[in-house]
Amino acid sequence: MCGIVGYIGPRNCVPIILEGLKRLEYRGYDSAGIAIVNNGRITIEKRAGKVIDLVNKIGSNNGKFAATLGMGHTRWATHGEPNDVNAHPHFDLDKEISIIHNGIIENYQAIKTKLLREGHTFVSATDTEVLAHLIGEMYKKTGSLSAAVRYALAEIEGTYGLVVLSTHEPDKIVAARKGSPLILGIGDGENFVASDASAIIEHTRQVVYLEDGEVAEITTSGFRTMTIDDVATQKVIQEVTFELSQIERGGYDHFMLKEIHEQPETIRNAMRGRLMVEEGDVKLGGLSHVMDKLVNARRIIITACGTSWHAGLVGEYMLEQIAKIPTEVEYASEFRYRNPIVGEGDVLFLISQSGETADTLAALREAKGKGATVLGIVNVVGSSIARESDGGVYVHAGPEIGVASTKAFTSQLTVLALITLMLARAKGMSKADGQVLARELDTLPSKVARILEDTTSVRALAREFKNTKNFLYLGRGSNFPVALEGALKLKEISYIHAEGYPAAEMKHGPIALIDENMPVVVVVPRDGIYDKVVSNIQEVRARRGRIVAVANEDDNDIDSMAEFVIRVPRTYGFFGPILNIIPLQLLSYYIAVERGTNVDQPRNLAKSVTVE
Ligand code: GLU
Repeated sequence: MCGIVGYIGPRNCVPIILEGLKRLEYRGYDSAGIAIVNNGRITIEKRAGKVIDLVNKIGSNNGKFAATLGMGHTRWATHGEPNDVNAHPHFDLDKEISIIHNGIIENYQAIKTKLLREGHTFVSATDTEVLAHLIGEMYKKTGSLSAAVRYALAEIEGTYGLVVLSTHEPDKIVAARKGSPLILGIGDGENFVASDASAIIEHTRQVVYLEDGEVAEITTSGFRTMTIDDVATQKVIQEVTFELSQIERGGYDHFMLKEIHEQPETIRNAMRGRLMVEEGDVKLGGLSHVMDKLVNARRIIITACGTSWHAGLVGEYMLEQIAKIPTEVEYASEFRYRNPIVGEGDVLFLISQSGETADTLAALREAKGKGATVLGIVNVVGSSIARESDGGVYVHAGPEIGVASTKAFTSQLTVLALITLMLARAKGMSKADGQVLARELDTLPSKVARILEDTTSVRALAREFKNTKNFLYLGRGSNFPVALEGALKLKEISYIHAEGYPAAEMKHGPIALIDENMPVVVVVPRDGIYDKVVSNIQEVRARRGRIVAVANEDDNDIDSMAEFVIRVPRTYGFFGPILNIIPLQLLSYYIAVERGTNVDQPRNLAKSVTVE
């Protein structure tokens, strides 16, 4: 999920790679490393922390650390804590091959078990090291580096942007891509490989984009590409015309927009290797040892702050309705100060993107001290909440740079849906019913992609409402938290006052605010309470409020009731929030852009709130 840069040519690769890694820092990462091939051996320097720490470490090596072939990596941990040992590059068993890897090897555990039986030993907790050893084994069988990589990749499930070096073939780099971007940079008598062009643009603007399933062999003078089955592929060299800052944001104007558009992929990543569609079930390694506690829980308490708290509210609907476990949701900051009655038999889920949220961490400690089982749902691997909890699930959304959370939220919802399905099955839901839910979950990434395909109507809305002073967001059931989250997004980045309400509560107060200037965003999917929400819409219309409806694609009745309609695909009720929030993220984004605010770093806000 993070940064890759490699070099082969006549120059010393070390400064080129370190400079490239610095260019990739914007992506967020937790450790960095470099491998060079020189005099028949591979030397690796790596460490947790920033690229500058790595630079300093190498600096003390008296200039002896130099070569014309090398690769560097910034890691964003998914398997194993962010420490020196888990940082990339990793070696194979004989230290003749080294790899760097972005992504996740889903079936690494099975491969690791097999290799352990064959006498391998591993130094790190990563999935990546397992792949390095597997490539080493394949090299013994094939005697060719690219064949070894291809054979190994044929055995793995998951995603990768992969770069491989070896002392056996010190005249080449082998690279491969599936689900994690990788490009070749074509220079004059030198060549590069990188996860994005920003790392190499100083040296060349001629690039080749690898496709999923492609493997490349890169030498000083050229490159060739092939499929995993060794069928040669044809590539065109393209010119990068983007500026550096644009590349860093993947061509998007802001990180927030980039992250909104990443959601089909990040939601898929949250389910990867966990959702078993055919079995209608879910496997979550980080919870297997506490399954008894979960299944027999007296109640589940979800504590979190901000956007994560909204995810928790949706989780409450899912867990109670589908898994039939009594569930409460509480702000972490409130939970810790009311001397809560919790103890054995209670299970707490702590949700936090960063895993460092001070209030949430304090709630964890409070509950743990009282004997409850505490489980994390966090994005950042090895974070405090991840370390101090009894187990948990990583959401695998990748680094989130925009301060206003978007992709982490939908990943949290996806993980809550997975937990719910797993518990429901463990508590007796039939396989057939499980399959129905699992199949639907599996469709969500493509449904999100559909929403993101065309954003013209949301942009038009943003222009219409850019000068509005207040907004009301309404939803019912599991879409009430969507209304809260939609309002929060707008507040955070556009500084427009917005409130989220359960639609039926409006008449108990906020209705007094409604006049012809008040936009009211109503989340109104075609579910069991559709008619109720329609009644709430009529109440707004009667007072000349302006209705913006988030409604299903096949809802033909809504046009006559709403001034604006944003369409989303249909899904089952409890998965609805994962889709319905997307247009609201976009709406707040485009309004903020219209107003010229600092979208990625809104005033007064911090990405990781480590104060009480
Ligand atoms: N899964 C790998 C690890 O945890 C790769 C992480 C990355 O994409 O940076 O080491």
